[in-house]
Amino acid sequence: MHYRVRMRAIRRFTVRPVLPAPIAALGSLAGNLRWSWHPATQDVFAEVAPDAWAATHDPVHVLGSVSRERLEELAGDDGFLARLGQAEASLERYLAEDRWYQRQVADGPRAIAYFSPEFGITAVLPQYSGGLGILAGDHLKAASDLGVPIVGVGLLYRHGYFSQALSREGWQQESYPLLDPDELPITALREPDGTPATISIAQPGDRDLVARIWVARVGRVPLLMLDTAVEGAPDHHVAVTDRLYGGNSEHRLRQELLLGVGGVRALRAYSRLTGAPVPEVYHTNEGHAGFQGLERIRELTVDAAGPRLDIDAALEVCRASTVFTTHTPVPAGIDRFPRTLIEQYFASDGATPGVPLDRVLALGAESYPGGDPGVFNMAVMGFRLAQRANGVSQLHGHVSREMFHGLWPAFDEAEVPITSITNGVHAPTWVAREFQQLVAELGADPDGDPAEFAQAIDTAPSRRMWELKRAMRERLVLDARDRLRASWRKRGAAEAELGWIDDALDPDVLTIGFARRVPSYKRLTLMLRDPARLKRLLLDPERPIQLVVAGKAHPADDGGKKLIQDLVRFADDPEVRHRIVFLPNYDIAMALPLYPGCDVWLNNPLRPYEACGTSGMKAALNGGLNLSILDGWWDEWFDGDNGWAIPSADGLDDPDKRDDLEAAALYDLVEREIAPRFYDRDADGLPIRWLEMVRHTLVSLAPKVLATRMVRDYVTELYAPAATSGRALDDGFAAAIDLAAWKARVAAGWHAVRVEHVESSGPGDAAEVGAELSVRAFVALGDLRPADVAVQLVSGRAVGEDEIADPTYTALSAVESYEGGRVCFAGGITLDRSGAFGYTVRVVPQEEHLASVAELGLVATA
Ligand SMILES: *Cc1c(COP(=O)(O)O)cnc(C)c1O
Repeated sequence: MHYRVRMRAIRRFTVRPVLPAPIAALGSLAGNLRWSWHPATQDVFAEVAPDAWAATHDPVHVLGSVSRERLEELAGDDGFLARLGQAEASLERYLAEDRWYQRQVADGPRAIAYFSPEFGITAVLPQYSGGLGILAGDHLKAASDLGVPIVGVGLLYRHGYFSQALSREGWQQESYPLLDPDELPITALREPDGTPATISIAQPGDRDLVARIWVARVGRVPLLMLDTAVEGAPDHHVAVTDRLYGGNSEHRLRQELLLGVGGVRALRAYSRLTGAPVPEVYHTNEGHAGFQGLERIRELTVDAAGPRLDIDAALEVCRASTVFTTHTPVPAGIDRFPRTLIEQYFASDGATPGVPLDRVLALGAESYPGGDPGVFNMAVMGFRLAQRANGVSQLHGHVSREMFHGLWPAFDEAEVPITSITNGVHAPTWVAREFQQLVAELGADPDGDPAEFAQAIDTAPSRRMWELKRAMRERLVLDARDRLRASWRKRGAAEAELGWIDDALDPDVLTIGFARRVPSYKRLTLMLRDPARLKRLLLDPERPIQLVVAGKAHPADDGGKKLIQDLVRFADDPEVRHRIVFLPNYDIAMALPLYPGCDVWLNNPLRPYEACGTSGMKAALNGGLNLSILDGWWDEWFDGDNGWAIPSADGLDDPDKRDDLEAAALYDLVEREIAPRFYDRDADGLPIRWLEMVRHTLVSLAPKVLATRMVRDYVTELYAPAATSGRALDDGFAAAIDLAAWKARVAAGWHAVRVEHVESSGPGDAAEVGAELSVRAFVALGDLRPADVAVQLVSGRAVGEDEIADPTYTALSAVESYEGGRVCFAGGITLDRSGAFGYTVRVVPQEEHLASVAELGLVATA
């Protein structure tokens, strides 16, 4: 029996258990979050204290809850010691052995810093609000699995995001439980004398903001977390790391200063105190950490220990080694601060002293048509501080090039230097263990050869797969009932009113899941568009469906809360409440049984606002079929047989009409295709065609949706090239100084660059395939040299009056120079395709350290 007394403790601290020597390894296993994706280690903690484990899935809590007697008992239990020894050996091997990066990547960056405002690693370290954080967590985990030397940089929010409950009326209730760092799986970074290591940042008209540095171990990857709750700090400083995405602009700015500027300072402290290599590449996951670039410029320009470059050269060094990932096409999702606030915080004695304020302001200025001069835009600064940038799916890359085209107005959208790397998910975290076991038994490694994987999956016995799916569905049903009961108790219901919950949801009914944050573009309530029709689908006597729904609305978003309330009210109806449930407090703990338990994963965003979406990937890896608008990743990888595409009416201006059409299409698919296929059983009771789709989903998607695939792509396409660029400029800095001077000279002289006239020889108007086209272009260069530019023949299929489709760019070479800076460039191509053909000639800047022709934004076209 537990009881509490109402007395405020005069001092509180945490008593750490003393582990008897034979079981001391429990401490190191609890101290490395690898347990969160390593079932054998979880089993060890479950054995230590089954009830505490079942209640929390938290090793630190488990160790804090067991008695000395129990610890002594375990220390004398040979069977336990053997299992513990295996888990320990497995962790040690995992931390030490060469992995993909060590074997396959020659001369890659020594270390990569990965900044993110949120990290979702495990439910016991609740430092995330949604997909961005989960992605960051999966990025670190996959980097660890691959041996990629990443260091995460984030904040430690003392209240995390928030906990969600419901009022009787179905209105979202937020609470902010306090997290005690001593009870979290993190350790303080300390100076040699044992005092906590800290960093500080100057604040306008105030004392310095001081933060301490916590380290979480994510397998091989350290995650540094800054925390302003230091002894003696004023309340308004302690409040800086209070919670994720709360507060006003100034609060957000302080958090982002801490993440960016403080993050770089924390990295330096970490290297100084642990000997860890200094990062060669800096990756900012979304714009919030953009100030990291300003701090690195400060180091290079004014730091007494630094090289004292001028700011233009320092900017080049910073850009070369920075990667920026943009995550949202929703304008409201982009961080923008009042310019005056930046003026305040970056004045001469501000956060990055010595970096001129006007240069800071210019980096975030919306200096393009439609831009707001009063605003400082973090995404815009992100692009200007990074030589390499990407979106998070092919469609999102395209949408981002369109959205940020204004930064490179002289170029076509296709040449806007924003590439894409499609997100992925960490399979060892998200795939149910029995499903992982099945896949392993088949000898199918989704990370291996796709053809072999496909072959192995094809041999999966239907009965076994189906029994497994049912078991996973049943686990979800039981978990959902527990959550439903707890929620109703909080909503004020008496136990006697809740008998119906014993039969809520059914482990044999087609289960559709929908869980995500609740911004309006995700359309939580599209399924309610025609309530009567939804009711018929839920209650169909032969082929019923059931829906499991979850999601948090941002605390300031009353619109989102209203959507949740609409859904909850529908689900409260006694007629349907056994077939549709809203589960409060969507988090990793809920997500883990949710994806495997669903047969269909529903996603119905307003296209194209879902940058990628990752929950559907997690469902697919567990044999779930996706039913989704063709947005984000689904637009890329839906193949006609691995799920269903909800047709999108995204050309339509009338949002109501659009919702009507898309909801009707959704109901049609469920009623006419999905439910019939799910309930179509053979003589043995197996849904053969359904299982074929499950197999095909695994074969077509599993190898693609993995976070290991994503991290490998980042390494080869962005990190390694950024390290190469960074090293070229970092080496004595001569190249950086030259590059900055060259850019200034080219920008100053570009006004004189012109394609004056182009001569061609070869085919006339009636050319044949195989004919040679040769071109001589006479180009005025003013004060620039021929080597400063590339002159390109741009050719391809002519479309309409003024377009060339899918152009190829062929370099012309300088053949003759004339008086007054005129140069003749010549070259040619073979016409290899019939049909309408067009060409033109253009001049772009050229220098070996550029990563894109559009980098300077300069072009001259014939
Ligand atoms: C995967 C995940 C998300 C992100 O899902 P999206 O499909 O990208 O919206 C959000 N929250 C949790 C708990 C998750 O596991």
